This record gives sequence, C-alpha cells and structure tokens, in this order.
Amino acid sequence: MTKRAIIVGGGIAGLATALRLHQIGWQPVVVERAPARSSGGYAVTFSGIGYDSAERMGVLPALAERHITPDKMVYVKPDGQARFAVPGQTVRAMLGQRALNILRGDIEDVLYAAIRDAVEIRFGTTVTAVTQDAHGVDVSLSDGTVERADLLIGADGLHSTTRRLVFGPEEDFRLDLDHMTGVFMLDRLPSCVEEGTTSTLTDTGRTLAVISLGPGRAAAFFGYRTTSPMAELAEGPATVLPRVYRDMGWAAPEVLAQLPHAESVYFDTISQMVVGNWSRGRVVLLGDAAWCVTLFAGFGSSLAVAGADRLGTALDRHPGDVLTALRDWETDLRPEAEKKQALGRRVKGLYAPSDPFRLWLRDLPLRFASFGPVSSLLQRRLQLKA
Ligand SMILES: Cc1cc2nc3c(=O)[nH]c(=O)nc-3n(C[C@H](O)[C@H](O)[C@H](O)COP(=O)(O)OP(=O)(O)OC[C@H]3O[C@@H](n4cnc5c(N)ncnc54)[C@H](O)[C@@H]3O)c2cc1C
Repeated sequence: MTKRAIIVGGGIAGLATALRLHQIGWQPVVVERAPARSSGGYAVTFSGIGYDSAERMGVLPALAERHITPDKMVYVKPDGQARFAVPGQTVRAMLGQRALNILRGDIEDVLYAAIRDAVEIRFGTTVTAVTQDAHGVDVSLSDGTVERADLLIGADGLHSTTRRLVFGPEEDFRLDLDHMTGVFMLDRLPSCVEEGTTSTLTDTGRTLAVISLGPGRAAAFFGYRTTSPMAELAEGPATVLPRVYRDMGWAAPEVLAQLPHAESVYFDTISQMVVGNWSRGRVVLLGDAAWCVTLFAGFGSSLAVAGADRLGTALDRHPGDVLTALRDWETDLRPEAEKKQALGRRVKGLYAPSDPFRLWLRDLPLRFASFGPVSSLLQRRLQLKA
C-alpha cells in the first residue's frame, strides 16, 4: 500500500521533503499556513551536504540557473565612503566550486516547480491537533479534515506548531542568540548604492546591507544585537527597525522609508532549536523546526535539503519500519546539525560587533581577499579548478 505523509510547512524543508518522498513512492500532502507562495527573501549560501543532496534529487541544474554573483561586495563607512571592496569574481572564488549564492525564495520556487503537478499542497491550512497509535497518526487540520498518515513531518520553521503540539512549548527548546534579523524586498535601490553590488555598513552592534539583485530588484537586510529579542518580536518590525536604525545614516533613511510599503517583511529572533530527539513516535521535525542552526552558521537551507534527502533514503531502506528509519536518519544527520549549531554560537560575537577592534578582526579575511594580488590568486585557483 502507498505510504502517506502529512508535511506541515511549505518552506525549503517541507518542499524538499515532499519531493524526496514522492521520489521514493510515498504520497505526501503539504499543508502551508500562508495563503499563497511568496518569493524573494534573502540571499543564502547553498553548499555542502545540501548541494550534494540537490544534485541527487535532480534539482541542482534549476538551482544553478538562479545563482547570483554580485559585481562586487562593498563595505562602507557611515558616511557612505567605501572602506574596502571585494570583486564579484573573488567572492565566487571564495565561495568555492560546489556552492551557490541564491535567494531563499528561489530555492523554494525550484522545489515547488518540481512537485506542484505531483503533490497536493493545501495553502491557508495548518495543523490543529495530533494523535497517534502504533500504526499511524491522525492529523486534524484547520480546514476541518482529519488526515490519517504513516508519518507527520513538522517542517514549519523556528516557531513550529507541530513541535508545540507534540513535543512541548517552544521555550523548552529555544536558545536565543541575542540578535534580531529583518529582511524585505525594495522597490528602488537607494541612491547611494551602486547597481549590481552588495553594500554593507556595520556600526555599534548593527548591520544594514543592501543587495542589488539586477534591474529593479533589491533587498534590504538588517541584523542587530538586542537583550530583549522576544519583546521586540512582539513589537514588530514597523516599530523596532526605525527605532534601531533611525540614526544610522548612509542608506538607512531611504530603506526605512520603503518599510511601510513592503509586500512582506521577514522579522525574527536569531535563535537555535535544541531538541533532544527529533521524533516522537510517527511525528518528526525537520529543518529549522528541529535544529535551526541560524544565519550565523549559514547552513540552514543546505541542512533542510540534506535532511529531506536523507529522510527519504532512510524510509526507503526500511519500508516496513518507520520508527527504525527515523532513528537511523537522526543518528546520521545529528552530528552535522550540532556541528553547525556550535559554529553559530561561536561566531555570533563577530556578526555585528559593537567595538571597532572586533569589526576589524571580522573583516580581516575579506580585506585580505580584496587585496589585488590575493584577489587575482583566488580567481586563478577557481579557473584552474573549473
Ligand atoms: C537572514 C537569513 C540568512 C540566512 N542565510 C543562510 C545561508 O547563507 N545559508 C543557508 O544555508 N541558510 C541560511 N539561512 C537559513 C535558512 O534560510 C533556513 O534555515 C531555511 O530557510 C529553513 O527552512 P525551513 O523550511 O526549515 O523553515 P522556514 O523557511 O521557516 O519555512 C517554514 C514554512 O512553514 C510555514 N509554517 C509556519 N508555521 C506553520 C503552521 N503552523 N502551519 C503550516 N505552515 C506553517 C511557513 O509559512 C513557511 O512556509 C538564513 C536565514 C536567515 C533568516
């Protein structure tokens, strides 16, 4: 009999899991709280085990088409003058060969295109209750239906409802790293930012980056230190971002002026999820819902795709035994997720340093790469490898 899975969440983790389960002959159903798909978001580095998995799952060529290389990355002073700049080809060389720089929304687009004709996706729907027995799991949904499945996958992100319903309150698992982040798409590039560049200003514990994504497409990225992340999350970006960035200068006023008209604003705490076991019976967490390594580690989308791929492989290997498959999958993936979480905690102090020495230290590798002879050497190495 065909095995069924309900996947809560249609982000990278949920869509990749749907694709992989479909590939092994399961029948996945995705429920996504948002009323429709949205695109864009922030640029992520997609590499490592997720890159390998995307290749195995057959979506790498479509992802590679969405790769973006900035013409250059410019690090500016508060008055807008460049401190230093790294040429795009050097950025590409630093990224390495098996890595992409891609919008989060573009990864979702590619995964969605791969499953939309084969997998049922219910938008505007969420999970409301879960019960399970030895043979399956009953999932009550907000559309009034109750779905019986062999497996329920909570891929519903940092503030997962599946985790709350089955594992316990979020506070039991959330480790705040004392920073907030915000991202939204811009209608117009601020006048002080050059087309084709990613330009960044960091001062006193806050960072603002403006990412030009080609004609008519740009994104603003905010990241700053805070001692009260959950309170600021409750206040919301419309209040908090102007308060924190009002006096920053450079592109901040022009970017903030676009905030009230932004189509959707991503605004959240930078927090990790520390969950002792990723499954309870036939309910498993995957992606940020399970481990959220954070943008400090820069590996969340890659782990989400690899997690999906390897879950499919484990389920395929144990066709009659979901529980053994889940145990094997976690044993295989957990060391990688914990390594990235440890990295995220280690580098958090360097993300938006409040003192000039730490800022200098943080920028040292980039400054080195921007230095003419080093830059040429890195580019030559990439050409040789290619
Ligand atoms: C600013 C920033 C920069 C980053 N940079 C990188 C990087 O360079 N490299 C990298 O690999 N990773 C990076 N990441 C991390 C990466 O984006 C995430 O780890 C990845 O997107 C997680 O995907 P996910 O599907 O697990 O969660 P999410 O993207 O949060 O998706 C969850 C989905 O579930 C839906 N949902 C939520 N609740 C419910 C519910 N109750 N019912 C139904 N649906 C629900 C949501 O609408 C959403 O569609 C970055 C993250 C941020 C914030």
